[in-house]
Amino acid sequence: MQTQHGPFYFNCVDLPRRAGEMKEYELTFDKHERVGTPVLGVEADEPIDVDLRITSVSEGVLASGTVAAFVTGECTRCLEPIELDVEQNFTELYRYEAEKKSHKKAKEIEIADEDEDLHMDGDFIDLEFAIRDALILDLPLNPLCSEDCEGLCPDCGLPMAELPEDHAHEKHDIRWAGLEGWAGEKPSE
Ligand SMILES: [Zn+2]
Ligand SMILES: [Zn+2]
Repeated sequence: MQTQHGPFYFNCVDLPRRAGEMKEYELTFDKHERVGTPVLGVEADEPIDVDLRITSVSEGVLASGTVAAFVTGECTRCLEPIELDVEQNFTELYRYEAEKKSHKKAKEIEIADEDEDLHMDGDFIDLEFAIRDALILDLPLNPLCSEDCEGLCPDCGLPMAELPEDHAHEKHDIRWAGLEGWAGEKPSE
């Protein structure tokens, strides 16, 4: 029995357990760990807004809605900060706990399916999976500050965007060092 409620728990006690009943809420979650991928994410305690609709269905509670949050990270080419607003829809079914056992028996063969089922915790539903999934799905894997970001200069590591167009480094290549003087004396015709 779970006694501790996670940061995305929502109490459905006001929703009558009668199929077809529906309630809507505007929620803000701002007590949570960072949510996201290694390169982009919603920082810890940064508000995550959820427009939630819960509907009673025969198997449990169907939760659907929209997740919106402010995401920050770094350009994967030039490391400049990136900020973006993400908004994504989700739909999850939370089965009644009582169904957990009978359901298990009936579906023992379909073990692979078992993990994907979410269950209620008393009157609570845990929106963490739904919220994380929705947010992460909307995040680019290799975020860029702009489509044509030129990244960093391979020699000095400065962002190409901030350097003059003719930016270059003198190459002190040992193989050509001996030819430098010769090349200088080469007569121009
Ligand atoms: Zn960039
Ligand atoms: Zn450079």
